[in-house]
Amino acid sequence: MFCSSVNKSVLTALLCGFTLLCGCGKASSDTSSTQLPEALPSQISVMSGTPLYQQDGAQISCELEEGDELSISYSVHAEPLTYYQIKADNSGDCKVLLAAGENDINCRSITAEADEDGSMSRVIRSDISGNLDFQLLVSGGGKSEVGHAEYIPAENVGYTIMSSSSENVRILLHQDDISDSGVSSEQLVKWLDALDAIRKTASEWSADGLDSIDICAACEFEHYGLSGDPIYIRRKYMASELKKVAETIDLPTEQQDILWGFAHEICHAADGFGHGGVSPAVFDSELFAQLECACCLDLNGYRYNGKETPLEFFSDSPTLENRLYSDEGFIFRLLEIFDENGTGLKDILPVFTERRSQPHNQSASEGLEAFLDSISKCVGYDITAFFTETELITIRTKFAIQDRNTPTN
Ligand SMILES: [Zn+2]
Repeated sequence: MFCSSVNKSVLTALLCGFTLLCGCGKASSDTSSTQLPEALPSQISVMSGTPLYQQDGAQISCELEEGDELSISYSVHAEPLTYYQIKADNSGDCKVLLAAGENDINCRSITAEADEDGSMSRVIRSDISGNLDFQLLVSGGGKSEVGHAEYIPAENVGYTIMSSSSENVRILLHQDDISDSGVSSEQLVKWLDALDAIRKTASEWSADGLDSIDICAACEFEHYGLSGDPIYIRRKYMASELKKVAETIDLPTEQQDILWGFAHEICHAADGFGHGGVSPAVFDSELFAQLECACCLDLNGYRYNGKETPLEFFSDSPTLENRLYSDEGFIFRLLEIFDENGTGLKDILPVFTERRSQPHNQSASEGLEAFLDSISKCVGYDITAFFTETELITIRTKFAIQDRNTPTN
């Protein structure tokens, strides 16, 4: 009863379903008779242990022991770069998660679980070739009947796409979040134009750069945002975040709250996450994203939360003098030293670009010293001379510990 895999999707059936639904450009008004197109698994893979499973069309019967994991993958042909709501069922004892395909860097960080009725749903985007990839991850002990995966364009279930004037920044939002926030379409475009300005600055100076950015604000997960392609922002925050945009976007630039969390994720994306992983030219992904974000906001005339300069924003970080390292504490001291010496943030931008040509196999400590050297070269003074001995020890110890904890190949 050990199926080695398989069953290619019955494409004709899928395409027919899809055509019926979209023939007039939207779902039939008689929703009671509207059926979502059903997808069949394209591959079933054992991820760990020896789970038993059997496929009967769209339904997969599973029997798992603790520690077993099964991935049921779907790949259906859809419109390119389009968001779809996926629905699937689970009845039984196994834990089943609905996740994006493995080509999405966040596929295991953002997942949907079944509700009491055994139904799970989430939004997933198709790739540039129109492949809509997703998977059901089955784990835990017990028996389950899973499958019946259906997909429908997200715009048919209350979501809407907004774009910047350049169309280089695109976001999927729920109409309820837009109306709850009170933001107008014009204000949304103005905000997306601001994010596009951040993208442009980040792309010019970051490790990899990005021509365009896609943001999905339709899923629930643990963090505020997760960078990648698309960048995910937790939907729960959207109505209140867009309210801040609505209240400030028509004010002078330095009072506009363009949501620095978005700018932060855009900087990560430009550092490589938009291409599927952090670029080897990045020395420390979180430190870089934080510092790049400060530079991008400052260079474009924006402030954190529509009021704080980078120096003010980082001023309540834990101090390195207490021998406690944090990226924020490190950045605060850098900003303070720049401020004392009349150095503008635009002066340090070559630091991010220079790393593109540096050796990529540096240890964390070597990366730190190269980073400090680059900054010193950019600003025209030895930056390390301005840190106290304790601060330097705190910073160097942090990266030395990172070296020790990094397995060598
Ligand atoms: Zn981050």
